[in-house]
Amino acid sequence: MDLNDDYSDVLQQDAEKGVDQPGADVQSEDYITTSLTQKFDPILKDTLDNVLKITKKLVDQSKYNIKCPYVMDPTRIVVHNTANDAPAINEINYMVSNNLEVSFHFAVDDTQAVQGILLNRNAWHAGDGNGNGNRQGIGIEICYSKSGGDKFLNSEKNAAKLIAYLLHEAEWDIKQITKHQDYSGKYCPHRTLDLGWQRFLNLCEAELAKLNPPKEKFAIGDIVYNTVDLILEGTIYENATKALLPKNTKCKVYKYATKDSVLWIALIDPDGASWNAVWTKQLDKLTVDNPAPPLEKDEMISSLEKRIAELESSVIDKDNLIADLKKQISDLKK
Ligand SMILES: [Zn+2]
Repeated sequence: MDLNDDYSDVLQQDAEKGVDQPGADVQSEDYITTSLTQKFDPILKDTLDNVLKITKKLVDQSKYNIKCPYVMDPTRIVVHNTANDAPAINEINYMVSNNLEVSFHFAVDDTQAVQGILLNRNAWHAGDGNGNGNRQGIGIEICYSKSGGDKFLNSEKNAAKLIAYLLHEAEWDIKQITKHQDYSGKYCPHRTLDLGWQRFLNLCEAELAKLNPPKEKFAIGDIVYNTVDLILEGTIYENATKALLPKNTKCKVYKYATKDSVLWIALIDPDGASWNAVWTKQLDKLTVDNPAPPLEKDEMISSLEKRIAELESSVIDKDNLIADLKKQISDLKK
């Protein structure tokens, strides 16, 4: 039996849905294979930096009008499951050899990714005709989803590596990861959805973090202030005392450490040793800008009195406003 017998039915159904997708009206200059935006090389290298083998089985140019008629400037990833138990090489070999208007850029299994379509050409996989899924999406099929198990889970891990690589190259983040379901309502990637979409996004994010090493935002010895209340850790390596650092506390940057690809910063009290070396990974909540000190009581009272004087000289109905401001003053005087 042909390995792809049952999958071909799925492909045929998808192709029927897309019969109105134009392919024959393509201009010859549309076959240009140079990248539009240089986000990616149109053909990925043999081994990605995060160690994933990429085999190329690119569709022949004679089939571009069927499989990838348009030049594409990709804006997103579209994730699929094959609903089949074939390895990636078979999925791509079958896709590039048939004459159905069904195509995708990659199939990924537990050992490798196989590329079938250039990354600067569209493919027909999202079921949305000439919508953003088909015309702007990089279609990635995750293999072995029919039966699941370790072969599928390892295929997902490899897909997360491929996706993280693409996000890194394009300077995208996980917001650019979409699923087939977002475009046509089809329950795809079916097994990835069954197991949890957020779980899969987390896999991709963890792979991306390995490629985007965190940056040390401040120099050692810098004075910084926290823009929100922060819960600090006594140490990043074990459960330790937590402490609240109230908003706008003056701290000195003591040192950095990385744990699980996340950068932590140790802060010390610049004026004494009442607390010494506490840690946070919320570097984005620290700033070198000295926050404006809160207004003193007298300043607030004179500011409110000034407002009353302004209102008294205006023509609007002001009794309630003035009464309210006077109450604020008497509260402050208590
Ligand atoms: Zn799909």
